Amino acid sequence: MAADFEAYSLASGSSGNCYLVKGGDTTVLIDAGITLKALTTGMDHFGFSPSQLSGVFVTHEHSDHVKGVGPLSRRYETPVYANLPTIKAILERCGAVNVSEMAIGQEMEIGPLSVRSYRLPHDGVCHVGYVVSCGSRSLCLATDIGFVCDPLKKEIGQADLLILESNHDIRMLEEGPYPCYMKKRIRGSGGHISNKEASHALVECCRGRRRHVWLAHLSRINNLPSLALMTARADLERHGMDNIDLAVAARDVPSLHWNPNS
Ligand SMILES: [Zn+2]
Ligand SMILES: [Zn+2]
Repeated sequence: MAADFEAYSLASGSSGNCYLVKGGDTTVLIDAGITLKALTTGMDHFGFSPSQLSGVFVTHEHSDHVKGVGPLSRRYETPVYANLPTIKAILERCGAVNVSEMAIGQEMEIGPLSVRSYRLPHDGVCHVGYVVSCGSRSLCLATDIGFVCDPLKKEIGQADLLILESNHDIRMLEEGPYPCYMKKRIRGSGGHISNKEASHALVECCRGRRRHVWLAHLSRINNLPSLALMTARADLERHGMDNIDLAVAARDVPSLHWNPNS
């Protein structure tokens, strides 16, 4: 029998990102960008404990992705995985961490889960997204994206669950309180994709079979969950696509749960 495959959003947004993936008895995190206290509370909310984690896969060294990595690794000896440039940055930022190299594109088996990273454009030292498979199902994490590149298009088209950045509304960003240099960084090729860019990517890459999409990494200042959802829904409808179950991952609290068999 195939192992149960599930995913949970513990936090998603500019102030912290953390997703839990479970395959059979194996539980891993992708990013731990919240405090150990918030992480413990979030895991407990879904019936998990940090002591059972088999690993943390880190996308990049920005604090909204690694805030809890040091405390988690030191308290529970949780193995941390990242590529080499990111490991160096993590060690500088987080202190002593039990971190091992996972090269980009390398497939790592951990229990029934198979984890692989792929490169994404962003201003981390060597930022990646992750694809996690279990049996015939897979999920793809794609957040912190400067622009929608070809490798990203290829990955997001395959996933049963796609966790896709929908960081900002362009107008809210333009008219909002951020200083010019920050607006420029967010819009730039090392920044984040907008609601519109996310919905265009869905239209281009995610036609056909049924799938779930979580809109993720929303900005607190430059976006609204309702606006992200409305933008994607309108674009999908305009293109006659009714194969996508859309949801928005909450920023500061545990929110979504995915089980492909339910
Ligand atoms: Zn980042
Ligand atoms: Zn981020």
